[in-house]
Amino acid sequence: MKLLLSASIFVILLHAQTEPTGAELERGALPEHWAPGGPDCQSLPKWEIHAYNETFYILRESGCTHYEKPFLYLIFGARRALLTDTGAGDPSTWKAVDEIVAGYMRKHNLRQLPLTVVHTHGHDDHTAGDRDFSGHADVTVVPARVEELKKAFGIDRWPDGTGSLDLGNRVIESIPIPGHDSVSLAFYDARTGILLTGDTLYPGRLYVEDFRAYRASVQRLIRYTAHKPIAHILGNHIEQTRTPYLDYPVETKYQPQEHELPLARAHLLELDLALEGMQSHPVKTALRDFTVWPKP
Ligand SMILES: [Zn+2]
Ligand SMILES: [Zn+2]
Repeated sequence: MKLLLSASIFVILLHAQTEPTGAELERGALPEHWAPGGPDCQSLPKWEIHAYNETFYILRESGCTHYEKPFLYLIFGARRALLTDTGAGDPSTWKAVDEIVAGYMRKHNLRQLPLTVVHTHGHDDHTAGDRDFSGHADVTVVPARVEELKKAFGIDRWPDGTGSLDLGNRVIESIPIPGHDSVSLAFYDARTGILLTGDTLYPGRLYVEDFRAYRASVQRLIRYTAHKPIAHILGNHIEQTRTPYLDYPVETKYQPQEHELPLARAHLLELDLALEGMQSHPVKTALRDFTVWPKP
């Protein structure tokens, strides 16, 4: 009995030592509010740029440029930078990204820093700026197509495998999450503990194209994140207001009372529970921080 007890204490201690605590994560800060996208569009730049920390940038397209107001993420490693998505409408994304990258290179005395552009999925509110990125030296645009994504990230099985891209002292993992779109991909940055979920999970309207695939993807994300520190779940849009269960009308540009951007792992569990409840009859369902919107 005594031996058994000490053995189990040892197992508990071992477990406590190996379980990630999040204490090692690189910290950063998110803004309290983003520029509301109006009402006066004259003074607003096309992009609001926020440094979460020195190596993790968030770009938010102005509502004055396009009502979708998507978020982009620019992550720096020692040998490469990674950009997720390129914006909606006529976004001039290349100019904004190029300025940040050039500033980063100057600050760190770098002569070269290749940029890889990937997509959270293939919808045109996230790919509109692609054309401005092609043709530049040191820029690789990975098209949002399964075969190309598998190759770029070394994903062996779609959608059950995972892949990764080494930016130099920083490995970004990619997790296929089809359902909103057939090529949806999530990204996990172990340095900050940030999980990027694209249009699959964010504070707004979660349009579900393929219900079965979407539910399986949410469950895959739950398993993937089970023993990882998740500092924030960051998606592509905000359509929710700060009032629980209430979203802005579709195509709202000016959102002075919008929900905060970050969600947490608990939201994945809440989403899964909601999906479980509507299995036999997927139906539009408002939750506190987002709305599940299965397409008929
Ligand atoms: Zn989408
Ligand atoms: Zn979108």
